[in-house]
Amino acid sequence: MDLGIAGKRALVCASSKGLGKGSAMMLAANGVDLVLNARGFEALEATAEEIRSTHGVSVTTVAADITSEDGRAKVLDAAGTIDILVTNAGGPPPGLWSDWEREDFIKALDGNMLTPIALMKALLPGMIDRGWGRVVNITSGSVKAPIAVLGLSNSARAGLTGYVAGTARQVAGKGVIINNLLPGIHATDRAASLDQGVADREGISVADAKTMREKTIPAGRYGTAEEFGATCAFLCSQHAGFMVGQNILLDGGAINATL
Ligand code: NAP
Repeated sequence: MDLGIAGKRALVCASSKGLGKGSAMMLAANGVDLVLNARGFEALEATAEEIRSTHGVSVTTVAADITSEDGRAKVLDAAGTIDILVTNAGGPPPGLWSDWEREDFIKALDGNMLTPIALMKALLPGMIDRGWGRVVNITSGSVKAPIAVLGLSNSARAGLTGYVAGTARQVAGKGVIINNLLPGIHATDRAASLDQGVADREGISVADAKTMREKTIPAGRYGTAEEFGATCAFLCSQHAGFMVGQNILLDGGAINATL
């Protein structure tokens, strides 16, 4: 299927590795020019070079913390005109409900709620003026079913989800489509560090922790960044124009729900 987005320009945040990189790679495979961001310079440059040499698109890089005001200003300045925005950032650390103080919540809200909102606020007006735009927010399956140890993530992402539900309906008539993509467990560094957390808590090996978590997924395995990127690219495509404010879950069936 031709996604109809060749020649568009996308900003993919937090994209040197993992799900952001998978999304960037699949947009590039469909002819989209990219602005990539991450904090670490080396991995970001390596990813940019891999994408340029594989797909021949133009790739601009900005090494900055997307959750800081300065970092966002740097990214937006370099980005220029953007047709497609994929918001993403690292997830908050795990813990127990009684661990978290106000400052921990502020940090989580800044990273996983207020940062994507600030990016949409900056880029939606241009998309509306041009009559076409796509936004995909990478959130989490924890929006549909809470993950107890990720209470900071559950809280911040629920806030973003509420904002998107209203905003998506305000801009859809202008040709701008906003949806959220909710990963279940995918084989990335983030999943490996959560496996490590389970191993430490349960006193088992990391391999056993992974096997234990795989058994909770009807598909019997973790998802891949490539599968995730393909769904993200579809949501950024011409064909997604009637899909407004949805929360698309990619979790191998892990959340046991009819709807
Ligand atoms: P990952 O493999 O750890 O990759 C994270 C990427 O984001 C890296 O490129 C990292 O590069 C960049 N990054 C992190 N913090 C950043 C910041 N403040 N500013 C700019 N770039 C930043 O993580 P992932 O698995 O792809 O996860 C992506 C998101 O999906 C996270 O929010 C995670 O919580 C969520 N999620 C993941 C899973 C899963 O199973 N993988 C499941 C549910 C939800 P630098 O470190 O160099 O900045």
